[in-house]
Amino acid sequence: MCLPADAMFTRKLMQRIHVETLHGGVSLSMAAIREQCWILTPRQLVKSVRSACWACKRFIASPLTVPPPGPLPTDCTNEGTAFKVIGTDFAGPIKYKQCKKSEEKAYLAISHVASPEPYAWKCCPV
Ligand SMILES: [Zn+2]
Repeated sequence: MCLPADAMFTRKLMQRIHVETLHGGVSLSMAAIREQCWILTPRQLVKSVRSACWACKRFIASPLTVPPPGPLPTDCTNEGTAFKVIGTDFAGPIKYKQCKKSEEKAYLAISHVASPEPYAWKCCPV
């Protein structure tokens, strides 16, 4: 019996054989269908059935890969002497209480040293 590849009956037959072969690959499904009937261009039909099969999609799916981290600044990766690269940031004013009634202001000075310790900070009351 020769079946056309684009007929609904042929597609349903191929889906059944695909499941009966335990979600076999293209060649196994083609060999199994050729035991029963002859289909014109069976490879395309088997690939189409496999691509629509959810069970096969679960097994074929590749895990999500995490992208590699971005490049670090060269100041942090190159070897150098201590305190070769220094940065300073200021923040404030920050209000704080010394006692219940008095409120004071303070500013932060953040020193950034590339190596060996990344951050050091000092609170400077005004
Ligand atoms: Zn499948």
